Amino acid sequence: MKSEELKDILLSSGSRVVICTHVNPDGDAIGSSLALKHFLERHGKQATVVVPNIFPDFLKWLPGAESILVHTKQAEQIKPVVEAADLIIVCDLNQPNRLAGLEEGIMASKAPRILIDHHLDPDTSFCQAIVSKPEMCAAAEVICSLLSEWGELDNISFEEATCLYCAMMCDTGAFSFNSNRPIIYEYISHLLARGIDKDLIYRNVFWTASEARLRLQGYLLYVNMKVLHERHTAIITLTNEERRLFKVKNGDTEGIVNIPLTMLGIKLSVFINEDTEHPGIMKLSLRSVGDFPCDQMASRFFNGGGHKNASGGKLQCTMQEAVEKVRSAIDSYAEMLK
Ligand code: 5GP
Ligand code: MN
Repeated sequence: MKSEELKDILLSSGSRVVICTHVNPDGDAIGSSLALKHFLERHGKQATVVVPNIFPDFLKWLPGAESILVHTKQAEQIKPVVEAADLIIVCDLNQPNRLAGLEEGIMASKAPRILIDHHLDPDTSFCQAIVSKPEMCAAAEVICSLLSEWGELDNISFEEATCLYCAMMCDTGAFSFNSNRPIIYEYISHLLARGIDKDLIYRNVFWTASEARLRLQGYLLYVNMKVLHERHTAIITLTNEERRLFKVKNGDTEGIVNIPLTMLGIKLSVFINEDTEHPGIMKLSLRSVGDFPCDQMASRFFNGGGHKNASGGKLQCTMQEAVEKVRSAIDSYAEMLK
């Protein structure tokens, strides 16, 4: 679809727009969705962001975050909003099942759905219009590229610019991976010209750890991390029992999976985290450096997917069984992890 046609759909459809994003929303999911909300509201629309479940506290300062409706808490409020939607934007996901509890309502709606995403292999059957750019670092970059094509990048508000910057910063680990394309920084120069404080955005996201989070980090690295030296891989586990012990809140575990990659020689890091809402389900996060295909490992072994250097999945089993499955998945990639 031509970007001008997309702009027409966005701005000429009825006035009520619903923006939805993936389960366990991260900085890109929340930042991109809120940027779209502010953009549409500036153009006279009524836009509501709905998310499947709660999002981390370190994103709550984002302009508009207080208006987000959370399905696990506000299902009754979300239902009529989705039913009344004239247009639905699906942001930062490639398969409808990533909408979790929101999937049913979103898929039942008669409103046209637009996908704005950067994941590999999008399911192209669940939206009428698709903007899928897997080469881009974040859904927010996809939005920047659209704004740029529309000649709108210099007209956006401070709030839109802040949300877009925060989203790209989060999906690239503060521009430390998947962020070598020069155009990213061209977009950022436009965002800075809108007055954003990128240093403050960084501190708001990365320097707001609780005492519990820092102590948990120490414990996970000192006690729970297993380093498979021959495979250049580290595995970290966290059970709900340990969560209780350390008074861990949602969000306290964000980014833990990246830490082993700072160790010399490590190519793959796997974090196995028991689901707080569904005990007995083990959520996996995979991160790699270089060519190791995390998305492939997640889809072959862990019922998941994602990107080459960052993916996730889940297993229904005990923690010990999950560790064994992860070890055998790692063994089957022995050649790549030499
Ligand atoms: P995280 O480790 O932060 O939960 O997820 C990392 C990346 O993997 C994200 O881009 C996310 O979209 C993707 N991902 C995480 N869990 C799943 C999953 O269960 N299925 C799929 N397809 N992708 C996932
Ligand atoms: Mn993303």
